[in-house]
Amino acid sequence: MATDIVPELLEKIQRDFNNAIRGNKKILDIQEMIENGTATYEQAYQYAQEVGEALAAAFEKHIKSDALPDGRMYYNIADRILNPTLNNNHIIVAGVAAAIQGVLNKKAGLGLKGIEVPLNQHRIKSIVERVVHEEVFDEVDWILAEPIVNFTQSVVDDTIKVNAEFQFESGLHPKIIRTAYGSPPCKWCRSIEGVYKYPDVPEDVYKRHDRCRCIVEYDPGDARKQNVWTKNWR
Ligand SMILES: [Zn+2]
Repeated sequence: MATDIVPELLEKIQRDFNNAIRGNKKILDIQEMIENGTATYEQAYQYAQEVGEALAAAFEKHIKSDALPDGRMYYNIADRILNPTLNNNHIIVAGVAAAIQGVLNKKAGLGLKGIEVPLNQHRIKSIVERVVHEEVFDEVDWILAEPIVNFTQSVVDDTIKVNAEFQFESGLHPKIIRTAYGSPPCKWCRSIEGVYKYPDVPEDVYKRHDRCRCIVEYDPGDARKQNVWTKNWR
């Protein structure tokens, strides 16, 4: 009977990931910025990138064709490795992004907590499907690199989306500011750059391709001014 490689593999990946996060200076700095109320979504994206890269590095170190049965990434291995680890990235980054949204709300004079976005299970499923599709894992090992970072950054994009929707429903008009980065940024990224007042926001403003480092910022607007406006309407 073949031994199940997953428990040991998972433990090694989680151990290296946790060590990398714990010793990460950028992450510690960002946590401090959240506490002293100076963090913005730029920090949320940096945080996501660090967390995503830490997991991708742990995958790269421990998941290799010669460690896999027949050199293949079978579904039951991919599923049991990627679900808990990506779910964990989601929980960490969703919490940080919501805390940063809370910082922005407070600065704008809003008594609203940042909303934590729920997990997008579909994104995990699609990474699992991509990686099990090929016969030789080494030919698709890149799927466990940049797409993992992209998945983790998307948690921040999704956080902005749910908070914008929620604040709009509460009678506010937040601004979404997307800035293209890259040297040089691609055509697509440049085409969705801009300042948008919710709800006049292009659907793609919350999307990103692999290796995209664009930043979306969130401006809740001045709550006091908007409250005056609301009172006038009443
Ligand atoms: Zn981009």
